[in-house]
Amino acid sequence: MTSTKDQKKPGKWGRRTVRKHHAGYEVRVSAGTDPVTGRRMVLQGTASTVREAEKLRTKLLAEADTYRSARTNASLGHLLDRWLPQHDVDENTRESYESLIRVHIRPGLGDVALTALVRKSTETVEQSYGELRRCRDRCNGRTLIDHRADGEHDCADAGCRTHVCRPLAAATVGRIHVVLSAACRPALRWGWIPFKPMDAVRQPSKPKPSPRPPMPAETARLVEEATRQSPEWGPYLWLAVVSGARRGEMLALRPRSRRGRHGGSPELCLGREKDPKNQTDRALATRVR
Ligand SMILES: [Zn+2]
Ligand SMILES: [Zn+2]
Repeated sequence: MTSTKDQKKPGKWGRRTVRKHHAGYEVRVSAGTDPVTGRRMVLQGTASTVREAEKLRTKLLAEADTYRSARTNASLGHLLDRWLPQHDVDENTRESYESLIRVHIRPGLGDVALTALVRKSTETVEQSYGELRRCRDRCNGRTLIDHRADGEHDCADAGCRTHVCRPLAAATVGRIHVVLSAACRPALRWGWIPFKPMDAVRQPSKPKPSPRPPMPAETARLVEEATRQSPEWGPYLWLAVVSGARRGEMLALRPRSRRGRHGGSPELCLGREKDPKNQTDRALATRVR
């Protein structure tokens, strides 16, 4: 039986929030107006019996009160679009956030409504993390071929290969978690959501780093050998050892031809491509021949 006509029992059902639908009942509850789109928002669900419909209605009314409601139907993708431009970070970080959003977040979570995120954050987000940890393409076993060309093509000519799932690194999922958490903070201030849903989401555990740095004697041999190979490579390695500079700082090293106080040789100076973690400048230089 298919009937979508309102049940004529407004007294029993309040504001006609329950109606007969197919073999069961559809329950709809108003949750106020969306501040972003200005449209009325409705929470809804279905139940198979009158008794269940009544229970569902009570539950949805409570949810509507609590969220009034994750007050907007805007999607997570929309929030990320609004969040990133006003988020105060350096250019490198912004670029890495943009790429995380484009490649990993938007395809799986971009269309999730903020209302849904608030109601089911752990389920939605942790499931997405799980998918990414299994396969960065979120193939769910469906992808058979990794196509290397778009549109109609001959897979053999294009060099397409059989799909092999590659898990996304736990550290990358951790960075996704940072982005989502950061985006929810202004959403709360703007009144788009009633609380920060990401607080309930468990961050995937990272493998404990277990670096095995060379012992002092080995280090000395490494620097010696590097110096023998090239007069630049040796001091560069030595500088990395004694300064404990971050990888980004080491990569930002640039030769500067300013003459030192003792004349002559150019200096290698720590550049600014990556700021030191504590935001303080370090004056560090080594001379090369
Ligand atoms: Zn192909
Ligand atoms: Zn896969």
